[in-house]
Amino acid sequence: MNFDLSNPTNGLSKLNTKIWDSHVHIWSADAFEPLLKVGREYGVHHFMGIAAPDVKKSLEEAGHEDLITFAYYLPIDAFASHEPERILNAIEEAHSEEYSMVKLWFGPRFLDFFEADKSFSLTLPIFDPVFASIEDYKIPMDIHVADPDIWYSTKYQDVGRYRTKEQALDEFRTILRKYNSLKIISVHFHSLPENLQQASQDLNDFPNLYIDTASTKWMIRELGRNTKQTRAFFDKHYKRILFATDLSVGWEDRDKEYLATRYWSQRIFWESNLQDVELPFPDEDNQNPPTYINGLNLPKEILEHFYWKNAEKFFNSNNYR
Ligand SMILES: [Zn+2]
Repeated sequence: MNFDLSNPTNGLSKLNTKIWDSHVHIWSADAFEPLLKVGREYGVHHFMGIAAPDVKKSLEEAGHEDLITFAYYLPIDAFASHEPERILNAIEEAHSEEYSMVKLWFGPRFLDFFEADKSFSLTLPIFDPVFASIEDYKIPMDIHVADPDIWYSTKYQDVGRYRTKEQALDEFRTILRKYNSLKIISVHFHSLPENLQQASQDLNDFPNLYIDTASTKWMIRELGRNTKQTRAFFDKHYKRILFATDLSVGWEDRDKEYLATRYWSQRIFWESNLQDVELPFPDEDNQNPPTYINGLNLPKEILEHFYWKNAEKFFNSNNYR
């Protein structure tokens, strides 16, 4: 089985549910059209889109408001430079502009992007008002806590600067405990597709915690290593897992193939029982390339929740906009 751009649903069966992609980045309104078009070919009917206020406005004016639930990207540079006031102002704006979610990104390299000269932890007291404000406004939070295991043994060896992965996750658990009415999606399978036992423990410990499947290659590489274990995880937690890609449009030039290969690969992975299907794009984090897709063959009931119902419930529940 191969990806085939001229036959985008090659190898896929008819799907009985719509798909809600719970994590995409929309950097310009124009760039949404191609994403929508390709998404539709794969059954995607709604997006949680991370977009700036002007982009959100343009998309709403273009009549797309029913297709997108919007998230506001909080200024991560202000976390790096310890300026909570700026983050609080952004939360005010997210609230007044009627955003449905705020997005926080703490891939350890954010410290380098913004040339941080102070040490960082999610639990620094100066950030307390930030989490308190998000909780007060009852805005759900989308958070990237940590990166693939492999990056900690390659890029992030300076533990003093980047913290260990376990440290970052522990800080996050402290936040979950302290702001226990916060409703949260921890992206990239809670940063733990490599350790499902721990991910399971955290889902058990924190009832407001949800996880997404963003980052196609990371998910397929790690969750495909032991399909039996991954299936068991889904059997147990499928109402807390949201389908997502992390596709990013309008930042750099992305063609149709970029969009289609991600949707195709994920659908083959979740739905089919095909094994050893070569991932149709490079995975530079695999030390033994290529990365293969080992289909999980998830049952219909699980797919219905994971693809649509969980997101619909998460974003449309009464307590939240
Ligand atoms: Zn993202």
